[in-house]
Amino acid sequence: MAKIQDYLPKIEATSVKVAPTYVTPYLSDDAKRAARDHKAKGKPVFIKAMQHNPNTAGYCKNCGGGRFILLNMIDAGPFKDVPGTKKSITWFDGDGINGVGWYIIERSATFPCPECVK
Ligand SMILES: [Zn+2]
Repeated sequence: MAKIQDYLPKIEATSVKVAPTYVTPYLSDDAKRAARDHKAKGKPVFIKAMQHNPNTAGYCKNCGGGRFILLNMIDAGPFKDVPGTKKSITWFDGDGINGVGWYIIERSATFPCPECVK
């Protein structure tokens, strides 16, 4: 007699997909200074979180291995809808200081990862 299992598709064991981990890096003194200068204008600065996978070659616990830190110096926001602008934009999930929504980026700046240059 056929069992219910005979009618079910055979499920092969496959590798488990793990959602990537994103970590916000700590900043070098240069990056801190640039962030402070921009915040002094009353505008936010976002530190871009880096994707981390400790199994990749050249992994770094701070930058994930990209060797740089990226700051978005924000011009305006948050906006509920995608703002009509020729400038770059970014989404921000909110942090209790800056609200959830779209932001217009005044400029972006990269700095060497302080962990990598040790
Ligand atoms: Zn690094």
